[in-house]
Amino acid sequence: MTGVQLNGIKKIYEDGFEAVKNIDLTINEGEFIVLVGPSGCGKTTTLRMIAGLEEITEGELYIDGKLCNHLPSKDRDIAMVFQNYALYPHMTVFENMAFGLKIRKMDNGEIKKRVEEAASILALTDYLKKKPKSLSGGQRQRVALGRAIVRKPKVFLFDEPLSNLDAKLRVQMRTEISKLHKNLGAITVYVTHDQTEAMTMGDRIVIMNNGEVQQIDNPVSIYKNPLNSFVAGFIGSPSMNFFDCTLKNDDQTVIKIDDTEVELKISERKMNDLEKFNGKKVKAGIRPEDIKINCESESDLFFDAETGLVELLGNESFLYTELGKNQMILKNLLKES
Ligand code: ATP
Repeated sequence: MTGVQLNGIKKIYEDGFEAVKNIDLTINEGEFIVLVGPSGCGKTTTLRMIAGLEEITEGELYIDGKLCNHLPSKDRDIAMVFQNYALYPHMTVFENMAFGLKIRKMDNGEIKKRVEEAASILALTDYLKKKPKSLSGGQRQRVALGRAIVRKPKVFLFDEPLSNLDAKLRVQMRTEISKLHKNLGAITVYVTHDQTEAMTMGDRIVIMNNGEVQQIDNPVSIYKNPLNSFVAGFIGSPSMNFFDCTLKNDDQTVIKIDDTEVELKISERKMNDLEKFNGKKVKAGIRPEDIKINCESESDLFFDAETGLVELLGNESFLYTELGKNQMILKNLLKES
């Protein structure tokens, strides 16, 4: 079996803290997998276990069908890029990129070929003789990528590689890493807490919380069909609005939020699914972009709410209001007049 496989992987630290609880994940050849979740959810620990930098407490890790639990990091055919790219300041760009190959005693001609190839992919050819201090943040991060690329590893592991860069550079590097992945086709496991990076880069996203996997799927499915309220609230900006309400599911499906009743126009199949919640207290979630002001379409659901603060962001606006006793946020695309 090719690819990377995590079977019931668990991490309990020496102090007894269970940082990762039972992860099952199969990463296919050429896949770009993003591990995303709030701070402390166990993303880095998972990545470090794949890298061999953290011992696996329980479960099995296979790379290309080979059990790797006790294989030293250097023998795993992986390359890692960290948030803190820590280049050697006294070495040139060429030497920084060549260093890992030199200590593996690779032939000098092959090293030169690989570094020049990587420099060309990363638009660093003109900088090979420069020292890191004369490079911009983005160029330094590209050198760190180059250091990984020259290894031609089976698996790339990225741990928040862009979080030290400013917003504009982050967007640029994001697309560069995606392009790079398309060109190289190697398995990539990318850790971030940034949902935009997760949504735009991942073939599939693994959403984690409290050391547990919440959902694994492609970005669109995760957005459209979140499995639980954690995933629904984590993905999407601004976050989904949640309301505590009571469900009535008779000839119509209605949610009662405080004193406001909202009829849900849903399919018969969905109505049947909701039957078991009839008369029960449930949590309803509505995405900010799915609520409109002054809508006219007959198929829309209506409720009254007073508008509050408005934030204008150029092409869109966020509008804060209340529904019953709940805070509610709307996202409006602003049309040019
Ligand atoms: P962040 O985005 O903040 O880096 P993360 O999701 O990558 O978070 P991890 O670094 O994997 O989280 O940590 C997961 C949990 O394990 C955290 O609660 C952390 O405090 C705990 N942890 C990490 N290292 C150790 C350690 N050596 N001993 C005990 N607990 C640890």
